[in-house]
Amino acid sequence: MTRASEIVVVGGGVIGCAVAYYAAKRGLRVTLIDQPRRGRATSASAGGLWPLGESIGLGCGVIFYKAQLEQGKVAEAGGPSQLPRAFLDFALQSKALFPTLAGELRETGGLDIELERTSLLFVMYDEADEAFARPLWQNCPCGRSLTEWVTPEELGRTEPAVTRAARGALRFNGDDQLNPYRLADAFRASARTLGAKLLPHTEVRNICVAKGRVIAVETAAQRIPCDAMVNAAGAWAPEIGRMAGIDIPVLPVRGQIVATETLPEVLSACISTTDCYLAQKRHGEIIIGSTTEETGFDVGVTPRALKALTAGAIRAIPFLEQVNVKRAWAGLRPGTPDELPILGSVEGVAGYYNACGHFRTGILNAPLTGVLLSELLSGAPLSFPLEPFLLSRFGAHRDTGASRVGRAR
Ligand SMILES: Cc1cc2nc3c(=O)[nH]c(=O)nc-3n(C[C@H](O)[C@H](O)[C@H](O)COP(=O)(O)OP(=O)(O)OC[C@H]3O[C@@H](n4cnc5c(N)ncnc54)[C@H](O)[C@@H]3O)c2cc1C
Repeated sequence: MTRASEIVVVGGGVIGCAVAYYAAKRGLRVTLIDQPRRGRATSASAGGLWPLGESIGLGCGVIFYKAQLEQGKVAEAGGPSQLPRAFLDFALQSKALFPTLAGELRETGGLDIELERTSLLFVMYDEADEAFARPLWQNCPCGRSLTEWVTPEELGRTEPAVTRAARGALRFNGDDQLNPYRLADAFRASARTLGAKLLPHTEVRNICVAKGRVIAVETAAQRIPCDAMVNAAGAWAPEIGRMAGIDIPVLPVRGQIVATETLPEVLSACISTTDCYLAQKRHGEIIIGSTTEETGFDVGVTPRALKALTAGAIRAIPFLEQVNVKRAWAGLRPGTPDELPILGSVEGVAGYYNACGHFRTGILNAPLTGVLLSELLSGAPLSFPLEPFLLSRFGAHRDTGASRVGRAR
């Protein structure tokens, strides 16, 4: 690939926008095509940047695990399983890019991503929570320096809104947050400033492959000749893969989420419990998330989920009983069988690249994904090993028309 090469990025969620930004920053010629679909994940996200929390199963992991346990779908109370070390290393490296990125995006695109340096607190209610948290503290994959055992008294001092019934908490320092909408918008605006062409409200209908190489991307209105294309279509990545004859094991995983009205500052950390997680954004809303449901492309919001999430929020922060719910919505995470993203090239189809399957952590992992794809597209050395994330880890990937995946846990 040379600087004169034409690159098409399909999908304008946070991942496609990040790829377009970093590719344009390297001087590549990029066209970003997006057809907004209902349930696209970036518009649904909570904006947590929790590399440690997510890799050990906090956030949605513990909520999903508890629900599975109550429904008898898992046999014993061992807690959610941890993601492999490669995931944690990827997430830590991605998160480390944010402080510099925030400044770059402000300067180039004129938008503030509202990055907040904070921490994630796993609030414990009972012995089972403590039994789950203690080994995480003792054997934290990053060592003890980033974790802190918080006594009930310390918790009361630092987070006075959290229930006095808590038995304390485990704190993960360096698990931060931002405004996810702003992140995608800022990547997009900055990419455009750097010369990327944007085709909003445009659906990709076909990928043209000739002699084992991508040669063009087609929309209803035009054929765009290209040397490379990036599949960043989120939960719809399998559709785009099929157009190039590639089977992508991505499945939509619904997450329902609730926002309170704007409140004065109540929380200084993000909170994770076995019922829900809570993150107060800079504009004052508290985001209460989230479910993990395999319900296809259904983006409905259900009374059962709202009841469970709000009850969990009130249990954690009792005064929330008195506040108004402002809105509730659902988004479709692009899930994969092993919960790791699918990145990089695919054998047999030159010029085709994946940047999909980011499941619960696409906001957190967008910067490093963008960096790596831009390195691949420009032939630069990679700043992180891609092997654990290649599509080939799932074995055969030629489209058989019969693929169906289930999540591994
Ligand atoms: C409730 C919820 C909470 C979350 N919280 C967090 C969090 O706290 N932290 C975190 O890191 N992650 C979080 N996530 C996960 C994160 O939102 C996703 O991993 C991330 O947004 C995926 O981005 P994406 O760009 O791959 O997909 P999307 O945002 O879905 O973007 C894909 C885009 O491709 C478009 N598209 C599809 N088909 C076509 C086509 N044929 N032509 C053109 N365009 C097409 C879609 O319309 C869409 O705009 C959360 C997700 C949910 C649902």
